[in-house]
Amino acid sequence: MLRYRRNWAAVALIIATTIITILFTKSADEDTGNPWVFYQDIELMENCRIEMLTIVADTIEVFSSTIGEGFLGGAVRELGISGGQYLVTCEVLMDSLGWTVQRTGDTLTAIYNRGELGELRAFPGNRRGFYRILFAEGSPCDWEYVPQERWIRQRAISCEISTTVWEALWDSAIPPDLTESGILITARDTSRAVGFVSELQHELTDRLFCYDIDFYYDVKVGDHLWLLVEENRYPIDGETGFRRILAAKYKFAHGGLAEAFPFFHKPEEAESAEIILDHYHRDGASLRTMFLKMPVPYGRISSGYSSARQHPVLGYTRAHRGIDYASPLGTEIYAVGDGTITLRGWSGGYGNMIRIRHANGYESGYGHMNGFASGHSVGSYVRQGEIIGYVGSTGLSTGPHVHFELKKGGSYVNPATEIMPPADPLEGTELDRFLFEMSVIEAQWSMLVGIDLPAPEVVAETETITEEQEE
Ligand SMILES: [Zn+2]
Repeated sequence: MLRYRRNWAAVALIIATTIITILFTKSADEDTGNPWVFYQDIELMENCRIEMLTIVADTIEVFSSTIGEGFLGGAVRELGISGGQYLVTCEVLMDSLGWTVQRTGDTLTAIYNRGELGELRAFPGNRRGFYRILFAEGSPCDWEYVPQERWIRQRAISCEISTTVWEALWDSAIPPDLTESGILITARDTSRAVGFVSELQHELTDRLFCYDIDFYYDVKVGDHLWLLVEENRYPIDGETGFRRILAAKYKFAHGGLAEAFPFFHKPEEAESAEIILDHYHRDGASLRTMFLKMPVPYGRISSGYSSARQHPVLGYTRAHRGIDYASPLGTEIYAVGDGTITLRGWSGGYGNMIRIRHANGYESGYGHMNGFASGHSVGSYVRQGEIIGYVGSTGLSTGPHVHFELKKGGSYVNPATEIMPPADPLEGTELDRFLFEMSVIEAQWSMLVGIDLPAPEVVAETETITEEQEE
C-alpha cells in the first residue's frame, strides 16, 4: 500500500512538471486568440498524463470484460472478482449506483495495483459517462457516477450558397472533428453528420430566420451565410456535436442582410431562475413574433374558426372558437409562444388539454391530446416551439387532430386572423447590455473568421435632409 502511494506521488510530480513546461514553453505565435487553444492545451496535458501513467504501469494491471446478454455477474467474475468481493461489487453497482439495466455491449474495467483491486469502472453503452467504484484493502470504499466530461466551444462557419442551404451546410458546416477519426467512414459517422446538419438547418431556417427569410423563395445562388455556433465536445469519445447557434448573418447576393444576435437573460414572467437564450435583431427587436402560426409542424385545417357550425359529435349547431389541425396520431404539439402552463389534464369534451398563459393578456389552448410531454406540470414555464404534448383523439373527437384556440383578455379570438404581434423588444438597461454584448461578439466573431463581417450600411441622411430643407 505504501509503495502504491509513493508511485502516485511520483506521477503527480511528473504531471505538475509537464503542465508547467507546457504553459511556459508555448510560443507566442501559437496564441492566435482562438478560444480552442485553451482546450487543446488541456488535451495535451491529458495525453502527457496518460503517457506518464504507462511509465509506472508495471505495477498496474487493467482487465476488461463485456456484458453478454444482460448478465452482470458473469462479466464481474471475468475480471477476477470473486467471493465476498463479488457480492458486494454487484450490490454497489445495482443498489447504490442504481445501475439496474445492463445491455449487451456494456463493458467493465478493473484496475489492479500490485495484484490488489483498486478501481472498477462500468461503462453503459448508451450513456456518455461511467460508474466508478474505488476499493481499499479489497472492499468498496467510495462510488459515484462520473458524467463524461463535456467541453463547450464556439466555432465560426462561413459558407456560400451554390445550390441549397442544406448543400452549403453539408459542404462547409460539419466540424472536422465530428468523429474520432475525422472522416466519415461508417454508417454511424454518416448518420451523425446528417444529424448535425439537420439540427443546424432546423435551428437556422425554422427558428432563427423563419420570419425574416423565406427559405423556399428568397434563397439565391451567391448568397452568403456566416454562423457562430456552440458545439459540445466529448473528449473521451473524441466526438463533437451541435449545441446551438449563437449568432447568424445571411447576406443576399442582391445586397440585403439578415442578422441574429444572442441575448442571455431571465424572463420576468418565468418563475424558475433559469437563464435563457433569445435572439434579437441589431436594434434589439425580437426575431420572433409572439406566436407561431400553428401548434403542429404539419397539419391540414380540418375545421376553421366560426361563430356557428354543426358539431360533428354532438349534432347540434355550436360555435367553433378555435382551429382544428388534422395531424397523424402522435405528432408533436408545440407551445405557440413563451408562457406558463395553467392547465394540464382532462377537460371534458376537450379530452387531454393544455392551456398556457402568455404575456399581454393572451392565453392559448390545445385539446384532444394523446399525451403530454414529460417534465412539465402546471406552473412550468415553456418556450415558443417547445413540445408540450402529442396529437390524439381524446374527448369529443372524430379523429386525430389538435383543437387550437387563442384568447385575448378572456375572449376568444380567431388565431388565423389575429395579427401575430411581434415578441417584446429589448428596452432600457437590457437593451444597453445587449448592444454592448453584441459589439463584443461581433468583434470576436470577425477575429475568428479573419475578415470584417458585413454590417448594415449606415445611410448618411443628414446632408440630404439639410439640402431639402434649404429648398
Ligand atoms: Zn376543434
